[in-house]
Amino acid sequence: MEKDEILLLEKAEKTHNLSEEEILVLLKMQDASPLFKCADNVRKLYIGGGVHLRALIEFSNYCKRNCLYCGLRCENKKVQRYRIEPESIIELAKKAKSYGYKTIVLQSGEDAYYSVEKLAFIISEIKKLDIALTLSIGEKTYEEYKAYKEAGADRYLIRIETTDEKLYSKFNPQMSLKNRMLCIENIKRLGYEVGSGIIAGLPRQTLESIAKDILYLKSIPVDMAGIGPFIYHPDTPIEKSEGNFFELSLKIMAVLRLLMPSINIPATTAMESLNPNGRILALQSGANVVMPNATETVYRKFYEIYPGKICLGDSPKHCRFCIEGKITSIERTII
Ligand code: SF4
Repeated sequence: MEKDEILLLEKAEKTHNLSEEEILVLLKMQDASPLFKCADNVRKLYIGGGVHLRALIEFSNYCKRNCLYCGLRCENKKVQRYRIEPESIIELAKKAKSYGYKTIVLQSGEDAYYSVEKLAFIISEIKKLDIALTLSIGEKTYEEYKAYKEAGADRYLIRIETTDEKLYSKFNPQMSLKNRMLCIENIKRLGYEVGSGIIAGLPRQTLESIAKDILYLKSIPVDMAGIGPFIYHPDTPIEKSEGNFFELSLKIMAVLRLLMPSINIPATTAMESLNPNGRILALQSGANVVMPNATETVYRKFYEIYPGKICLGDSPKHCRFCIEGKITSIERTII
């Protein structure tokens, strides 16, 4: 390891502050194992050995947006669309609770079928289960976010994706980075716990722009930050991008842990889609959250944001207990 890398890791571990240039040095490390180790130490010190499980219910794959990297974009006519009705979403949440989950994450494309009234009904029914509720349903108005909060939602996930304005407008047509940032500010202002994050490995994305993304997430500051490695989907117009985005995602995640020692960081499903041991490696490099799929098996193959997603043929119950086995095998505990 280079001397400047050792000094930077020591500085990050002590102060939890790095400049953009210093973050770049860590993202460029040839052998990043000391970075992962350092993030793991910080995780142990600030968070301990507990791993939070969040049950993910993907309730609709309809989306009015056209993000160029996403298999669910509205212009992709090859995907079979589905919606789960409110009563069935509530049933799935009850089932997830019976498997021991303490948090439900409701995720969908931006689907206007679920009006504010429908969502408020779903949220308030799920909150009767005495369980935390996270929404991940995209860009809404301040009033809509407020209505969901008043209905009982606790947390909101909305990835910034990238803070590079040019990249953002190229890959997210008819959307604006400015509005995305405004959504995050509104969610924060309304008192939600804020989850955000980025994609790692978009074509023409630079490490410099990723360093800026990391500092943006710290400036909010977010309560949770998730990294999704870019995985090329053949039914999208985007070009393929070359690189080891699994390792890049791990590096970003580790730097986030060093800079924001107490936040929640998920070991994402996409990381395991690129590496069969991806979630465990992530948990050993700074992560402390896993979001197992609690959607019924029949729908899973249609929620294909990227191809090669894991656990498509598994049931909610199987996923719950499979992940428990993996987590306890590295002597971590579910909390
Ligand atoms: S990334 Fe989200 S908002 Fe964009 S097309 Fe996919 S599901 Fe819709």
